[in-house]
Amino acid sequence: MKRTILLSVLASIVVPASLAFADIRVVTTTPTLADIVRQVGGEHVTVQSIMRGPENIHNVSPTPSQMMKLRKADLFVHSGLDAEPWLPQLIKGSRRKHLRPGEPGNVDVSRGVPLKEVPTRGELTRAMGDIHVYGNTHYALDPLNGILIARTIADALARTDPDHADAFEANYEAFSRRIVELTARLVAKMAPFRGTPVVTYHRTWPYLLDRFELVKVAEVEPKPGISPGPRHLSECVQTMQARGAKIVIVETFNSRKNAESVARRVGGRAVVLAQSVGAVPGADSYEKLFEYNIEALLTAFEELGIAPREEADHDINPDRRHP
Ligand SMILES: [Zn+2]
Repeated sequence: MKRTILLSVLASIVVPASLAFADIRVVTTTPTLADIVRQVGGEHVTVQSIMRGPENIHNVSPTPSQMMKLRKADLFVHSGLDAEPWLPQLIKGSRRKHLRPGEPGNVDVSRGVPLKEVPTRGELTRAMGDIHVYGNTHYALDPLNGILIARTIADALARTDPDHADAFEANYEAFSRRIVELTARLVAKMAPFRGTPVVTYHRTWPYLLDRFELVKVAEVEPKPGISPGPRHLSECVQTMQARGAKIVIVETFNSRKNAESVARRVGGRAVVLAQSVGAVPGADSYEKLFEYNIEALLTAFEELGIAPREEADHDINPDRRHP
């Protein structure tokens, strides 16, 4: 009898307290997703990211300590598609059934996002490169896609912790409003430079370029994830000369040297942009990532003497620009 009382007293002190106030433990692949989880989950989540930010998302080797980190997670939030080819190894290493694909703890935020560059049926997709075989995986670089990602995250949090569903919904609404305002403000800043041609290193940027109406004319990588040889670099230079492009956008993990050497040959420059939250100092939230990137581009335009275009129309055909 005494023992029963003691146990129930212990249980009432220890167990309910720890359960009732426990945060949802979330592990994400990238700091970008971690920041969105933090903003939607607020005080009810504890978030950790596997990546720090500057790394190449397609090329991470999971360590035993990262597998241990995942072991304690209620939810594992990732980019889906083939963005993180190291995922199966990481999940296997965590030995947690509820985090496997199709299980409730596995949250693929690509669901519902309209993808760019989806290969058409019958295309030999692997021939296009080793990655992006389901479409371009860098969709978080359109700020408006961040709202779709936040939606998926809010739903997953509400399923895991229904008591706080209202808080997640309110946080999601506030996040959406902030992102819509931010996007409108930055699009307006970039509007005078609409149609400016740029070169990118990896195929990281189509979502960002389309949202802010810049035009990619060449890529330093001959295929996504494939390093360029001297001949391809020369072709890039020729394209830049032909199209009047002066800027090579490069990720933090790719060869700044290659980017600079191409840009210098046309009197331009390489611009390092943040491909992820945490990739560069200053890009330490989802909103700040876009502030940073747009500011870096505007600074480069100014330094290179790229003037705002006066035409109001969208036409980017150089033959028709000055009739
Ligand atoms: Zn990629």
